[in-house]
Amino acid sequence: MKENSKQKKPEFDVVSLVDDILRQAIAAGASDVHFEPGRSEMLVKFRLDGVLNAIETLPGAIGENIVARLKVLGGLLTYRNDIPQEGRIELTGEVYGEVIDQRLSIFPTIHGQRAVVRLFYAQKELDNLESLGFSDYALSTMQQIAGRNQGVLLLTGPAGSGKTTTLAALLRHILTTAPGKSIVALEDPVERHIDGVTQVQVSANGQMTFPTALRSLLRQDPEVLMIGEIRDAETARIVIEAGLTGHLLMSTMHSGTPAGGLIRLLEMGIEPYQITSSITAVLNQRLLRRLCEHCKKQITNDGTFEPVGCDMCFNTGYKGRVLIAEMVELDGELRQAILAKADMERLETILKNRGHINMAQSGMQLVRKGLTTVSEVNLV
Ligand SMILES: [Zn+2]
Repeated sequence: MKENSKQKKPEFDVVSLVDDILRQAIAAGASDVHFEPGRSEMLVKFRLDGVLNAIETLPGAIGENIVARLKVLGGLLTYRNDIPQEGRIELTGEVYGEVIDQRLSIFPTIHGQRAVVRLFYAQKELDNLESLGFSDYALSTMQQIAGRNQGVLLLTGPAGSGKTTTLAALLRHILTTAPGKSIVALEDPVERHIDGVTQVQVSANGQMTFPTALRSLLRQDPEVLMIGEIRDAETARIVIEAGLTGHLLMSTMHSGTPAGGLIRLLEMGIEPYQITSSITAVLNQRLLRRLCEHCKKQITNDGTFEPVGCDMCFNTGYKGRVLIAEMVELDGELRQAILAKADMERLETILKNRGHINMAQSGMQLVRKGLTTVSEVNLV
């Protein structure tokens, strides 16, 4: 086809450029692709194993074209550049491999529109509780709890620590070991579909909040409930009460340590006796970046390894992740301390005295095995 001579010939083929970037991100296993407009350039970043890495700097002039192309792919309003927009990029062809969903979010900034594509992968290898990398103790405790008819399992850790994956694996475990159980999951948002589980999407701002949905659902006779996150005192109260009245509940909280999670419940106004009689255990977990096997280098004086960087790992020195976790079951001594409204320090001391292996210690075990680095452990 002949180009109209009056039309300026584009220096970049934006359609294939966007396609290439997304394909490259998927090949690298990135979870997010950022298109950040600056004063005179557009920075492309990939989130690899939880960490953002600058990948490419493109001329600012084509930044708007890239975002326009993304908006077309995501079915968004191309003529609106002044409002945040969210959409979904349809998957076409087999080039997208293991990706099951691509969500697009556009946000106007002073330098133009910023776009982020979140990539969701089919994680077949993560389907089983047994394959997540938990210690024998943590695994068997979870399996025991999953077989119960009541109580609360609390998962703690920041966003991106793999809590959702663990919860999904736990639900799948219950589905296979106790088929026929009535299982309901409340999530914001629903991240992956699990056949056999009634999944409900709640939202913080809409009518279907965690507390309202949870209160109604309890009248639907569920046996197992997964609550995406305890964010407020009201949700905490309903979760604890449901755990005391013949329901098995699993939920997560933003907290750095198991003791911190328990203290936070007290701070939310939950009575100590309610905590001690409903909470069965607290599982705290993190994901550390795994050293790239292709380029890691042994440090001679202590035998541990350091990251180097190669083509296989986008020069980050890391590829994939490893899990560290600590499982705390509420035993007599801990229960008594909570009933006595002990502070964080007291709870930590009790754990230390009973030989509990904390996060830093399990992290260092992985460092000695050459799987990760001290700096990764220090990050968590
Ligand atoms: Zn490498």
